[in-house]
Amino acid sequence: MIIAPKTRGFICTTAHPEGCAAHVQSQIDYVKSQPPLANPPKNVLVIGSSTGYGLASRIVPAFGGGASTIGVFFEKPGTERKTGSAGWYNSVAFENAAQKEGLYAKSFNGDAFSNEIKDQVIETIKADLGQIDCVVYSLASPRRTDPTDGETYRSVLKPIGAPYTQKNINTDTGVISPISIEPAEGDEIAHTVKVMGGEDWELWINALSEAGVLADGFQTVAYSYIGPELTYPIYTNGTIGKAKEHVEESAIRMNEKFGANSAVVSVNKALVTQASSAIPVVPLYISLLYKVMKEKGNHEGCIEQIQRLFGDYMAADTAKGLDEKGRIRIDDWEMEDDVQAAVASAWEAVTTENLNELSDFSGYQTEFLKLFGFGLESVDYEAETNPERPLPSES
Ligand code: NAD
Repeated sequence: MIIAPKTRGFICTTAHPEGCAAHVQSQIDYVKSQPPLANPPKNVLVIGSSTGYGLASRIVPAFGGGASTIGVFFEKPGTERKTGSAGWYNSVAFENAAQKEGLYAKSFNGDAFSNEIKDQVIETIKADLGQIDCVVYSLASPRRTDPTDGETYRSVLKPIGAPYTQKNINTDTGVISPISIEPAEGDEIAHTVKVMGGEDWELWINALSEAGVLADGFQTVAYSYIGPELTYPIYTNGTIGKAKEHVEESAIRMNEKFGANSAVVSVNKALVTQASSAIPVVPLYISLLYKVMKEKGNHEGCIEQIQRLFGDYMAADTAKGLDEKGRIRIDDWEMEDDVQAAVASAWEAVTTENLNELSDFSGYQTEFLKLFGFGLESVDYEAETNPERPLPSES
C-alpha cells in the first residue's frame, strides 16, 4: 500500500510505519547524543507510552539509562487494507530498537483505565521484572469507563462560569477567526475530572503497591500544563484545569501514603501532540511560541523536554528544586518573561494575512504531520509499504 496523509481537522486518519519508525529513531538518536542519565531508574512503567510525552518518557530512560520498560497504550494495529495508528507504529519501532540493544520492552495495547490491563501488567512485572521503580502516567483521553461503576465519562474542553472568546486558527487552512466557547454545564466539570484527573493514576499506584511490585523509593510522575493568561479560561481555569488540580491533589495523597516526593507532577511545555491539537486556541499559541523560542534558541520538543525531566530531576544525582507547590517545572523556558512578552505582542497583532510572518505555523504543520510519520526526509513515501506490523513482544 502507498500511504499518504489524510487529515481531517485536528486528526490524521492514516499513519506511515517507516515514517513513524524514523521519527522514533530520531528521538532515540537525540537521547544517545546526550550524556547518559546519572541515576537512572531500572524498571519503568509508562502508561500512555505510544505518542507525545509518554513515548518520550519511554525512550529517555531506555536509551539514556538502559532501563527495562513496560508500555501501556490504546492504539490500532494496521491490517492488510488499513493503516494502523501512529502510536501503534511508534511502539513497534520502539520495541524493535530496544530489542536490537538488548533492552527489555513489553507493551500492552488496551484500556489503561480497566482493571484487566492493570492485572495483566502486574502479572508481567511479577514474572519478568520483579518490581518497578518508576511509573510515568501520561494518558490523554476523551473518555473513561470507571471500572467500579461501569459508567463511561466524557471530558470536555470548556471554560467555567462564562463564555470564552479568543482568536483561533483553523489548522487546515491557516485562517484565523474568533471562536466562542460556552461554559461547562451540569456534570461536565465533574466528568472531565473523572477522565483527566488523578483518580486512575492513584488506582494504578495503589494496585501496583498492593501487588508488591513497587520498589522501595519508587517515583511516579504525571504531566500537567499551565501556560499563559490568554489560555487560562480554556485551560488552567477551565474544565481541564480542574482535572489537573485533581492530579495535584492525587500527588499530595500519594506522598502522604508512600513517602515524600514519591509522586510528583511535572508541568510541561505546550507542544504539538495529538492531544494538544484538539484544544481550541492552543495551536495558534503554539505556532507563535515556536517562532519566539526557535529565534531565542531554546525551543524543545517532547524528547528534549523529557530528557531534561530525567536528566535534571527524576534521574539526577542531585535533583533541581521544585516550585512552591512541589511541582517540577520543565515549562520554565516557555514561561520566561521575555518569551511570554514576545508571544503576547505577536498574539495581539496576528491575523490570517501576517500569520507566516509572525508565527511558525509552517513548523506547527510540519510537526503535526510528523506525529503520523509524514514529512521525514529519510522515508520514500512513493514506495509500497506493508501496514501490518506486529509488535515484537506479542509475536
Ligand atoms: P498524546 O495524545 O500524544 O498521548 C496520549 C497517550 O495516552 C497515548 O499513548 C494513547 O495511546 C494513550 N491513551 C489514551 N487513552 C488511553 C486508554 N484508555 N488506555 C491506554 N492508553 C490510552 O498526549 P500528550 O500530549 O503526550 O499528553 C500526555 C500528558 O501530557 C497529558 O496528561 C497532557 O495533559 C500532558 N501535557 C501535554 C502538553 C502538550 O502540549 N501536549 C503539555 C503539558 C502537559
